[in-house]
Amino acid sequence: MYDKDNIFARIIRREVPAEIIYEDDYVISIKDIAPSAPIHILVLPKGEYISFHDFTEKATSDEIGHFYKIVRKICHDLGIEKKGYRVLSNIGSDGMQTIAHMHLHIIAGKNLGKLVN
Ligand code: AMP
Repeated sequence: MYDKDNIFARIIRREVPAEIIYEDDYVISIKDIAPSAPIHILVLPKGEYISFHDFTEKATSDEIGHFYKIVRKICHDLGIEKKGYRVLSNIGSDGMQTIAHMHLHIIAGKNLGKLVN
């Protein structure tokens, strides 16, 4: 069950402040409050989706396509494609997802090291 009072839902409703770097009717993007690299951005669909798994099941193809185009646009606007970056989504307990509203991390600004060996 989606919890309407999770912190990202509250940020979307403007009940909690955040550093918003992009917003439209379907997507919002904010700076991560505890960055793990010089650039650490979160991109969230505004719809009530628990995770990547839930989003890609329930959202329309247009909504999913728009979301990923915006992720790309944000990366482009940040100017990070030349040196590279990492995009990831944690899912569920083994994935160490801590906030149950679908979000994608954009991490960049240093060599990120290997994630998978
Ligand atoms: P995850 O562990 O993949 O669910 O990612 C949740 C992310 O949200 C973490 O990187 C947190 O640092 C970040 N976070 C938690 N609360 C806030 C907040 N109020 N504003 C911005 N980022 C947050």
